[in-house]
Amino acid sequence: MKVYFLTLGCRVNQYETDALRSMFLERGHELAEKPEDADCCVVNTCSVTSEADRKSRQMLRRMARLNPDTIVVAAGCSAETTDGKVAADIIAGTKERLTIVDRAEKLFAERSELIHEQDHVRPAVSKKDEYHDFGSVLSPEGCRAFMKIEDGCDSFCTYCIIPFARGRVASRSVESCIKEAQYLAASGFKEIIVSGIHLCSYGKDRGEDIMSLASLLKDIDNVEGIERLRLGSLEPISMTDEFIDALASLKHICPSFHLSLQSGSDTVLKRMNRHYDSKGYASRVERLRARFPDMSLTTDIIVGFPGETDEEFEETMRFAEEMGFARIHVFPYSLRKGTKAAEMEQVAPEIKKQRESRLLALASDLSSEFAGRLKGRKEEILVEKTEGMKASGYTRNYVRAEAVFDQGLTLPVPGDIVRGTVTGSSGAEIVLKPDL
Ligand code: SF4
Repeated sequence: MKVYFLTLGCRVNQYETDALRSMFLERGHELAEKPEDADCCVVNTCSVTSEADRKSRQMLRRMARLNPDTIVVAAGCSAETTDGKVAADIIAGTKERLTIVDRAEKLFAERSELIHEQDHVRPAVSKKDEYHDFGSVLSPEGCRAFMKIEDGCDSFCTYCIIPFARGRVASRSVESCIKEAQYLAASGFKEIIVSGIHLCSYGKDRGEDIMSLASLLKDIDNVEGIERLRLGSLEPISMTDEFIDALASLKHICPSFHLSLQSGSDTVLKRMNRHYDSKGYASRVERLRARFPDMSLTTDIIVGFPGETDEEFEETMRFAEEMGFARIHVFPYSLRKGTKAAEMEQVAPEIKKQRESRLLALASDLSSEFAGRLKGRKEEILVEKTEGMKASGYTRNYVRAEAVFDQGLTLPVPGDIVRGTVTGSSGAEIVLKPDL
């Protein structure tokens, strides 16, 4: 078969698409550049917002419209939460990804016998929340590799559909994680981004605490060839002093931490069922900055959460400014049927819009301030692309940077690490003069 892949949603979804791609290729199938040329189109769907659900359904219909003969596979969270009510030939929820290749091959065989079958039968895979291990996954592009080590979430924030889509916390074995880190290093990846749906819960299903993640990171840190170890989204509640000290003892840790805040108002945090308050969040940030003075702090904030008053929103604005985030992902609240927040009094769309643009403006100012403070400092870039006499990529503290080389100098290639002095910034990005 020729197979086309489309991914919606988060980095973990992207990782799972890369895994599915490897599984099809290992079975001798080929990649299709576009749906029109594909015998099978796999859409890895997302359900984090109602907009993501709508887009997932739209993409599934689009595959069938562009190529009525292709086998359309709906995989992932939207396929799971919409209980299979999606336009597809094969429906595989979040626990059924490992069945997709077999089912597509079976349907393809039947179709070549001109039997136009569909396979909506959800296979009786165990719904138990065990980790579905894809083995070592190679990202087809780039020089930074995402590594998934955990799935599911037990937190049940009142606005979130993910625990219903992905189930309870399930951790990958330490052996499988180290094997993948070695595989990625041997394949030339210098940076690994350790990620999961609720990364800080790694090991929880084995009765372990946050130090289980610290111990795994230490093992990955010791893998030869890994020069940068970056972490996915973290939860303030898990950032114990012991864990922060363990991070600081790693040789290759990148000083950029994404600490999910969601709101700067304690009363809103309570309604969100987030298990910390702004004071607790600030104390964790202070503790992190004490060990990582040059770190960048990034976060997610929801605006227009049900019942959010003007005063509560102002609390969030003040707190965000106080924290000095290098980057804020701003999410207008999206009602998800089946969540507690869906039953609460909703904020008017125009108010939500106003708050979104105010916080986006603040976020942009804070990002420029953070980049501006780097002028004159030594930084390094992991080169992702080159153009003319310029090479660009991310610094260790996750700032987009461009190194400008003088004519006659040898230009680096993607995957190289370039060190230099920051000569200036434009918005959230910086310019580097490479060391000769
Ligand atoms: S921690 Fe909360 S927001 Fe994050 S995945 Fe779990 S339930 Fe959703």
